[in-house]
Amino acid sequence: MDYPGNLFVVAAPSGAGKSSLVKALLELDSHVLPSVSHTTRAPRGQEKHGREYFFVSEAEFDQMVQADAFVEWAHVHGRRYGTSKKAIEDRIAHGSDVILEIDWQGALQIRRIFANAVLVFILPPSWDELRSRLERRGEDSAEVIETRLANAATELAQAKEFDFVIINELFERALFDLKAIVHSQRLKYLCQRRARAETFTALGLP
Ligand code: GDP
Ligand code: ADP
Ligand code: 5GP
Repeated sequence: MDYPGNLFVVAAPSGAGKSSLVKALLELDSHVLPSVSHTTRAPRGQEKHGREYFFVSEAEFDQMVQADAFVEWAHVHGRRYGTSKKAIEDRIAHGSDVILEIDWQGALQIRRIFANAVLVFILPPSWDELRSRLERRGEDSAEVIETRLANAATELAQAKEFDFVIINELFERALFDLKAIVHSQRLKYLCQRRARAETFTALGLP
């Protein structure tokens, strides 16, 4: 299946900076909308139900799995996370580009479903920096941080399956790279033809 707009999937080990980068992109570019996932983990300090995630119980998540309500879902750091069909369908109806911030297992599932999905992996500049970002963020317990670092090696090994890699060392540079990826997709022939139909028609192009 082809998603009618551009579908960007961003994955990274926890603490690499994917939420910060995606948030900054969304503030700059109103044509990209986030897909809001469901999760069984508890909200962090500032997180709001329906904004960062739909926070649901294990039972509610089970019900959604039974009802085939997810496009993809996965176990991540001992919790479950999933992209609902509704999250994607709402975006299709809106006609906008959509960005999914999900783990690598979900990213590979999305690519199997939407052949035109663009997969972006965010790398931290080093292991030391990854640890210190998780500690500096100050939102997770020491135990949760250790689980996330232990899982990071497996996650990093998946970067080679992705279309693009961004190294988030200098934040502004990484944001520039992410914007460049988004922009490049909009310059593809089919996207340009859809966005600038009158120009193509006037030029007699198919
Ligand atoms: P918040 O959780 O609403 O504050 O926003 P974010 O999750 O996007 O980012 C958390 C904080 O990380 C923000 O205050 C950002 O300014 C900060 N941050 C993002 N990038 C950088 C960077 O390159 N360097 C530093 N020092 N801080 C950054
Ligand atoms: P993720 O969503 O991948 O778990 P976050 O976006 O929450 O990661 O970033 C983890 C922490 O690192 C946050 O405190 C964020 O402010 C910080 N951070 C993100 N990018 C950079 C960067 N380029 N340099 C320094 N700190 C950063
Ligand atoms: P966090 O708890 O730090 O917000 O996210 C933990 C991990 O779960 C991250 O790797 C994040 O990308 C992933 N994740 C968030 N939402 C989804 C989702 O809907 N599906 C999948 N497969 N992973 C998700």
